[in-house]
Amino acid sequence: MHTYRPLPVSFSQGEGCYLQDQHGNQYLDALCGISVTSLGHNHPAVTRAIHEQAERLLHTSNLYHIENQARLADALCQTSGMEQVFFSNSGAEANEAAIKLARLFGHQKNIDNPVIIVMQGSFHGRTMATLSATGNRKVQAGFEPLVSGFTRAPYNDIEALRAIAQNNRNVVAILVEPVQGEGGINIPDPGYLQAIRQLCDDNDWLMMLDEIQTGMARSGKMFAFQYEGIQPDVMTLAKALGNGVPIGACLASGKAVDLFQPGNHGSTFGGNPFVCHVALSVLHTLQNEQLANNAVARGKQLSRLLQQQLQQDDRVLEIRHLGLLVAISLDRPCGELVRIALDNRLLINVTADNVIRLLPPLIIDEQQVETLAERLVLSIQQFNEQ
Ligand SMILES: *Cc1c(COP(=O)(O)O)cnc(C)c1O
Repeated sequence: MHTYRPLPVSFSQGEGCYLQDQHGNQYLDALCGISVTSLGHNHPAVTRAIHEQAERLLHTSNLYHIENQARLADALCQTSGMEQVFFSNSGAEANEAAIKLARLFGHQKNIDNPVIIVMQGSFHGRTMATLSATGNRKVQAGFEPLVSGFTRAPYNDIEALRAIAQNNRNVVAILVEPVQGEGGINIPDPGYLQAIRQLCDDNDWLMMLDEIQTGMARSGKMFAFQYEGIQPDVMTLAKALGNGVPIGACLASGKAVDLFQPGNHGSTFGGNPFVCHVALSVLHTLQNEQLANNAVARGKQLSRLLQQQLQQDDRVLEIRHLGLLVAISLDRPCGELVRIALDNRLLINVTADNVIRLLPPLIIDEQQVETLAERLVLSIQQFNEQ
């Protein structure tokens, strides 16, 4: 079905930060299949893990204990401070689990119509519940009736959340992205997550973080919440967790622990031996190669280069970044730039109409960042000349 409008290019192989098309042209990948292939293409550790597990066992179902799943859960909890994990096959499904947890939490408190606060400009997925949680009319239009039980607040506005706390007795949770990805790499003020944590404590709400795009070291920390020294009650992951092998996760700690009991939730594929073995190799590689640190260094370098080279351009409104979540907002819609960059052998994305979104591999080196900046600046110049 025509759910996408693909660009006129197809890739046959990849190596590190580069993808090769059918004619042998090499493209610098500054998008990672939308924040997925953070270890680049054909990373030896991931390829080895895929081979190893393919030769052993792919799937047994959750009707049996899955050792690889337990190992991955332990490793994720160890690095995140969370306590329990439910494994899904995508980000939307991880968020579905989070939404179900919040509702269970509410019903345990005898709140019959539990409400979750979600943000304007957010993105949480394409299933009925997650598109209802999403703060973008384009994602929802035509799919009404939406799932009820959500109320919306402006992003990065703690006063608006306090006002809801005063007026709505049915709130049980806040679901928020530490940085809004699809919404345009919107980075909140320092202290925002801490203030949400406080509000959730004061009102006995679950603090639920959607780290599907920000997680797995992209922000410069393994998880973006670690910048604020807080612990969420629920966190969702997907995208880079499997470096291209489909896997999502919903993690719980504190008052979100043990809400699900046998029979409450499930997934046939979720957490199978294959994806968990691969995801564990992804996590270990992120840690062993200290790629969170590289995300910090290369993110700084990239934004500095772009600041320098684009400062004369008055169409550029702002360049912002957290780790290797990098955005350049222009004063006009710039979707056309994706094709111009493609002609310059650079893969980028435009989101929220006028925001160039860069999500390069976390393995990117200094020289590749220079190439990225060169090709992007050239593309923006060509866009301006049109
Ligand atoms: C991509 C994304 C999702 C949805 O993940 P899927 O795997 O496409 O279902 C949810 N939340 C955020 C923040 C995302 O970036």
